[in-house]
Amino acid sequence: MNQNLQNVLGLQVALTQLREAEQRLHGIPDWMRELHDEHERRKTEIQTLEGASEEATRQRRTAEAAVQDAQEKLKKFQQQINRVSTQREYGALLQEIDTVKGQISGQEEAAFSSLERFEQTQKDLAALRESFREIEQRYAAELARWEAEKPEVARQVEELRARIADLKGRLPRGVLSQFERIHDRYPSSATAPVRPIERPGKGQREWHCVACNYRVRPQSVVEIRNGSSLVQCDACKRILYLEEEQG
Ligand SMILES: [Zn+2]
Repeated sequence: MNQNLQNVLGLQVALTQLREAEQRLHGIPDWMRELHDEHERRKTEIQTLEGASEEATRQRRTAEAAVQDAQEKLKKFQQQINRVSTQREYGALLQEIDTVKGQISGQEEAAFSSLERFEQTQKDLAALRESFREIEQRYAAELARWEAEKPEVARQVEELRARIADLKGRLPRGVLSQFERIHDRYPSSATAPVRPIERPGKGQREWHCVACNYRVRPQSVVEIRNGSSLVQCDACKRILYLEEEQG
């Protein structure tokens, strides 16, 4: 096989491996994903409940302050009773006193139900934290295992970077920029295998690009096998190769 094509294929393999290694290094590893999600879910649940608990306390304080205000008002109204001179004034004052008493009992009820809500959330929180403990321990253990794997992955990343630099150095500048252009467009792979389509009853074999399914001309297959330049798919422009000759 043409040496440039061989180096291009090696470069693509190394770039793919580098991307995977970097994901392993910086992302959550697959084997931890499920526990990580569970851990996040529990954490969010606890935070939501903590928020509800704080909110209940805030509401209770607001209601208690309102009770106090209303009681002050009630005291003033009651002092005014001795000073009223007409029946109309007396009636109006009694009305005011009734209203403010209603406010007091309403706010007292609100304070009480906030307190109940607070106590319930505290009970739920205790249970959640208790059941979270086991997951937290497992999570800490897996995190430690992940940290222990990192130096090896980091070493692989260095090795792959060196291999990529070496392969790039072997490619003529034009071929390298051709590859890089296509790789920018298709970060997952700038290369694509060519496969024959078996059509019983037809004499001539037909070939297609595995990436986009477009037909590949027989002359192109000959060119990939024997030629000296890279052959691109007519449709998707990826660099084509024959699988049996890879590597
Ligand atoms: Zn194609």
